Amino acid sequence: MGTAPSPRTIGHFIDGKPVTGSSGDFGKVYDPNTGEVQALVALADQAETEAAVASALAAQPGWAAWNPQRRARVLLKFLQLVEPERDELARLLSSEHGKTLADAHGDIQRGLEVVEFAAGVPHLLKGEFTGSAGTGIDTHSLRQPLGVVAGISPFNFPAMVPLWQLAPSIACGNAFVLKPSERDPSVPLRIAELFLEAGLPPGVLNVVNGAHAAVNTLLTDPRVAAVGFVGSTPVAEHVYRTAAETGKRAQCFGGAKNHMVIMPDADLDLAVDALLGAGYGSAGERCMAISVAVPVGKATADALVAKLVERAGALKVGHSFDENADFGPLIGPDALERVRGYIEAGVAEGADLVLDGRGLSVPGHENGFFLGPCLFDNVKPQMRIYREEIFGPVLSVVRADDYESALRLPSEHEFGNGVAIFTRSGDVARDFADRVQAGMVGVNVAIPVPVSYHVFGGWKRSGFGDLGQHGPDSIRFNTKTKTVTSRWSEGPAASSFVIPTMQ
Ligand code: NAD
Repeated sequence: MGTAPSPRTIGHFIDGKPVTGSSGDFGKVYDPNTGEVQALVALADQAETEAAVASALAAQPGWAAWNPQRRARVLLKFLQLVEPERDELARLLSSEHGKTLADAHGDIQRGLEVVEFAAGVPHLLKGEFTGSAGTGIDTHSLRQPLGVVAGISPFNFPAMVPLWQLAPSIACGNAFVLKPSERDPSVPLRIAELFLEAGLPPGVLNVVNGAHAAVNTLLTDPRVAAVGFVGSTPVAEHVYRTAAETGKRAQCFGGAKNHMVIMPDADLDLAVDALLGAGYGSAGERCMAISVAVPVGKATADALVAKLVERAGALKVGHSFDENADFGPLIGPDALERVRGYIEAGVAEGADLVLDGRGLSVPGHENGFFLGPCLFDNVKPQMRIYREEIFGPVLSVVRADDYESALRLPSEHEFGNGVAIFTRSGDVARDFADRVQAGMVGVNVAIPVPVSYHVFGGWKRSGFGDLGQHGPDSIRFNTKTKTVTSRWSEGPAASSFVIPTMQ
């Protein structure tokens, strides 16, 4: 009998080199399909995190001195280098996260679209100019980089979110320290290697794996100018507060409870198709997943629930490499336990569990973190399963009597990330988009993640800070404005003791 091989270890990427973790602290990286620990990830301590910040600080001035077009070329080269690696990256991502290969490709693609956007940085960084703002006076504004920017990302989009955070930031001339999720750390590390290969100077992009200690070091280190966070709301709030206390710019995106309102005039089959993908895709582990369906009127609700039970019950849950699987396992045993706990809570609170996925077993993968699709009907706003984010393949139906009460549900919910309405009425759609209290609205679109050149961001307790991700906000977040007023005309020197005005 031999001893079981010890799992491989995953370290950091600092100063352009892979670095073995030295803290002695490790986290488990599971294969969610099998339930096995496939690797151990080093969890950085304060000293290791500070080394990454020091590397970024040293590299930043030189990088910022490159002209914007030259910096953009590194992003363009990165895009070229990723191309032949897409399949391999998707497999790596899927093997640690558990989302299907097709979905992993989507995760990567959405991230690359922001790299494409950020490659337009020469244009995006153009400031403003006013000639002859006064006699002989011109005024212009510059957008200058902040210095060292940190990004803390969640497990559920291990390619997309890091790329959203880092690409606009480095394009603007900042150096970046990424602290990805310790649950699926491999893709962010590969991204950093590819950027180095694309010509990014060492130290401009560092990846520090870790958990609380690494995050708290980044939040308190005075050399870090700004922090972007994406993850759950309690941590988003903690990051936002701590960053503010230490004088950093911060944007922190949190959890969600995205509603889809289905009006009586909606194309019900279209709505059901959209709900299945938006509710159960990626096992519901998406911040833009629809977790609440709000049919308007009894007839709509009865028809919707009947179709959902039939169609959701037929979804195929399987190994994330199985091309026929609609979705794969949850990320880990804690996630599985948490989601099962919510299902029990929903039953105890009196919601009707009309589809119960708890009995699912995937043949050959009995120890994987699988949960079949679950559907609750007659969910009420005071129930925990309505108020809290479940982050699993669990869809709740909250029946609304009329349009106004349907509109109030997402508007009054503490989260305000995405929301959708399915209707054939332009009037209703327009009114909904105008009045609903959420950051991103879909009209006959279930997952309204904006394209890369528009702004992504939730409202209320889904987003803390003034600026959203990608689009023009990402350039604003990653730069500070300097305004220069110059006079070059020759004239008689004269002292003035009155504030200059433009009269
Ligand atoms: P999480 O909050 O557990 O972790 C996010 C990051 O914070 C990770 O890098 C983690 O290491 C770190 N972290 C966790 N606890 C911490 C603590 N106490 N102190 C310091 N750092 C800590 O989130 P998750 O489970 O990885 O991701 C899922 C969550 O992210 C969901 O709530 C989802 O809605 C949200 N999310 C939001 C968006 C958005 O744009 N609003 C996008 C994707 C995911």
